[in-house]
Amino acid sequence: MSQKHVYSFGGKTADGNGKQKELLGGKGANLAEMCLIGIPVPPGFTITTEVCAAYYEAGKKIPEAAVPEIDAAVTKMEAVFGGKKFGDPADPLLVSVRSGAALSMPGMMNTILNLGLTDTSVEGLAKKTGNPRFAYDSFRRLIDMFGSTAMGCEHEDFEHEIHKLKEEKKVKLDTDLSADDLKELVKRYKAVYKKHVGEDFPNDPRKQLMLSINAVFNSWHGHKAVEYRRIERITGLKGTAVNVQAMVFGNMGESSGTGVAFTRDPNTGENVFYGDYLINAQGEDVVAGIRTPEPIAKLEEQMPKVYAQLVEIRQTLEKHFKDMQDIEFTVQDGVLYMLQTRNGKRTGTAAVKIAVDMVKEKLIDEATAVKRVNPDSLNHLLQPQLDPKSKIKPVAQGIAASPGGASGKIVLSAEAAVEHAAKHPGDPIMLVRKETSPEDVAGMHLARGILTSTGGKASHAAVVARGWGKPCVVGCEAVKIDEKAGVVVISGQTLKAGDFITINGTTGDVMIGKVETIAPSMTGDFSTLMTWADKSRKLKIRTNADSPADALKAREFGAEGIGLCRTEHMFFGEDRISAVREMILSTTEEGRKKALAKIEPYQKADFVGIFEAMDGFPVTIRLLDPPLHEFLPQKDNKAGAEAVAKQIGVTVEKIFERVEELHEMNPMMGFRGCRLPLVFPEIGDMQVRAIIEAAIEVKKKGKSVLPEIMIPLVGIVEELIILKKRAIAVAEEAMAKHGVKVEYQIGTMIELPRAALTADKIAEEAEFFSFGTNDLTQMTFGFSRDDIKGFMPTYLAHKILPVDPFQSIDVNGVGQLIEIGIQKGRKSRTEHHKQHLKVGICGEHGGDPDSVHFCHKVGMDYVSCSPFRVPIARLAAAQAALAK
Ligand code: ADP
Ligand code: MG
Ligand code: MG
Repeated sequence: MSQKHVYSFGGKTADGNGKQKELLGGKGANLAEMCLIGIPVPPGFTITTEVCAAYYEAGKKIPEAAVPEIDAAVTKMEAVFGGKKFGDPADPLLVSVRSGAALSMPGMMNTILNLGLTDTSVEGLAKKTGNPRFAYDSFRRLIDMFGSTAMGCEHEDFEHEIHKLKEEKKVKLDTDLSADDLKELVKRYKAVYKKHVGEDFPNDPRKQLMLSINAVFNSWHGHKAVEYRRIERITGLKGTAVNVQAMVFGNMGESSGTGVAFTRDPNTGENVFYGDYLINAQGEDVVAGIRTPEPIAKLEEQMPKVYAQLVEIRQTLEKHFKDMQDIEFTVQDGVLYMLQTRNGKRTGTAAVKIAVDMVKEKLIDEATAVKRVNPDSLNHLLQPQLDPKSKIKPVAQGIAASPGGASGKIVLSAEAAVEHAAKHPGDPIMLVRKETSPEDVAGMHLARGILTSTGGKASHAAVVARGWGKPCVVGCEAVKIDEKAGVVVISGQTLKAGDFITINGTTGDVMIGKVETIAPSMTGDFSTLMTWADKSRKLKIRTNADSPADALKAREFGAEGIGLCRTEHMFFGEDRISAVREMILSTTEEGRKKALAKIEPYQKADFVGIFEAMDGFPVTIRLLDPPLHEFLPQKDNKAGAEAVAKQIGVTVEKIFERVEELHEMNPMMGFRGCRLPLVFPEIGDMQVRAIIEAAIEVKKKGKSVLPEIMIPLVGIVEELIILKKRAIAVAEEAMAKHGVKVEYQIGTMIELPRAALTADKIAEEAEFFSFGTNDLTQMTFGFSRDDIKGFMPTYLAHKILPVDPFQSIDVNGVGQLIEIGIQKGRKSRTEHHKQHLKVGICGEHGGDPDSVHFCHKVGMDYVSCSPFRVPIARLAAAQAALAK
């Protein structure tokens, strides 16, 4: 830990600067930076994240060395802010105590405002400002915030008191309460405080300050913060910094106010000033959704001078930080102060537009633009949009807070969302609430979309939804929610929890019922950014596709081949499944061949379609992989068995007999993959013939084809030797018969640890490797992918694993096998055949940005992923290449 614990800022100087986010937290570092570039910021100081770490090491105690530094920084702040003294009974300087870690975690940790007020200084403030109402209002807010944030009181208990008082006084709004009313309220708040804490509210400013600093540190391990870090996979931070800053007041009357804004539209990326403000308001009033704020443009009418200054600051900040900023400001009696700036969260759509625009504006270069867009955020541009031809008319309109369209079943609380998702995984749900708060993030994460009846563009729901690329509509006042009764009333219509509702986060429209969605496409800025990405990447990007339609979609998104075409999906087609079953049920080779002959033309036609769609790009086709019983009805499915019996003309008993024979204790490790054609060679023969004949047919039409025949689940080179020999014989025969030669390759999947370890032997036979990381992960961990539900959440919660290894490659274990496989395989192929061994990946991991980085690092030739993840993989591959 460094010697210095506390960094002052204010005036036009600062001890720290914007680069020190790890030490000062994002908020503290940028407050310092704003001072350095001459932007007006109330003075204050930042206690470092290292102090937070030390606080926990010492068993929740502020390290002694930090204390005199804190006192000195208070004195310095007083001097810079015009000489007022912290806690002065006649004219007190008040402060805010604000948290702030290296990464922004909106709403995760609570800010305490107006700190330093006491029974005597509140009188002083009242006199000095000539505004006793303001003084008592500030004091009652302090007792509430300090009590609930630092001392564990319930905010609700304070709220209860203000409601009661308003009823007694027969007024509706907080602002209708008089100074005397508020004085009375302070008394009642103090009683609530004492009842809960067991002590009087501290009338000592320094004690308030020290307790608040403790509270900020404590919040680092609070439930909300921990949950947010878990969902966002944030690890490795030291803690939160604490910012103590002189208060400025937006609630001093009509010439004061407070606001939040973005330097560009965070939904669309448009280069317009975007935000909200409230006159005569303090702190979180704008984001809390209690009063509906005004759009920032209106400030130009209400406070033209301030607005002009704000517009200038907007430019200065963007030029300086070279990125879109999310800012907070307060106006006290006509004087503007900036309270925060940070790189703004934005939708994927906005991220792409802003990056491309900033290159055009010469603020950044192409590589920076490519590096800046989070690949996962492209999901947003790849989100389905509501079908514009839908006949379902909107019944209400709210504020468009995060674009894209979504339909889902209504849930009225985050807990209900979690419950529903546990019971019906994947079922679309829509979270409908008055407003959301950090407690709700787990439920929000599970919902397709979020609809709130209050709040503005900067409300919690809006900010979080944008961060995740989830459609969101806020402030829809026509939506009346009765959580207790479990109903939502929209424009006179009553909906129950579980009914479908649809939102359009791009327009703010709300519809009753379910609206169909349509697939997105890649144009404009999106495709520009992709071209820039393609300039840097080394990895080729292929797709996993089983149909010509998927193949075409993937090519539209830039796929350069198919890395995995699963033939079993074709076996399930309505017109072929009965022939497949007939094949499985027959006991003789003759019988099987007869059935296979019926399937073959279909297989061939499928491959023709795919080859044509890929138009000369390589197509890796995997031979049949799953165990045969997957094609038969389940053991206890009597009705299913009867249907099949009728379909193919055998008895139900016969079917159950075969189902019984094929039953496996552990199908994942059973009679599947290359084991099938080794026992039933005719199955493999049929598939190879269909592939080669399809290639011949396409070639005859004058198109080029590049089939790659992939043999799954090889663990022993002898398996491959036999199957390869047989495949070559079939291919040669087909080519001889048609008098046409086609280029083809035979390779294997590496998805068993033994295959990776004996990759040198296997590479003597295989012309390419494709790492099937789904199975490789299963086999390496001994986890069945479908049976991790029971323990994976615990593993992640207890950090036994940092991430689910089925989502992101386990670099330390599975990754090692991959590296061994590549290294041994490449060396052997070069030695024996003077040939570069082509290596790729075709598991789910191919579309996961972290895994793509890994694949780049270990020198793969390509990654393959689902069509909609192709752009994400392209961008991730470019970022991997651009990373040092
Ligand atoms: P968050 O991290 O949740 O954004 P902040 O620390 O930014 O929390 O504080 C929330 C709000 O409190 C700010 O947006 C601002 O309106 C108000 N606030 C914080 N510090 C001050 C201050 N020194 N003077 C006036 N208002 C303040
Ligand atoms: Mg907050
Ligand atoms: Mg803030």
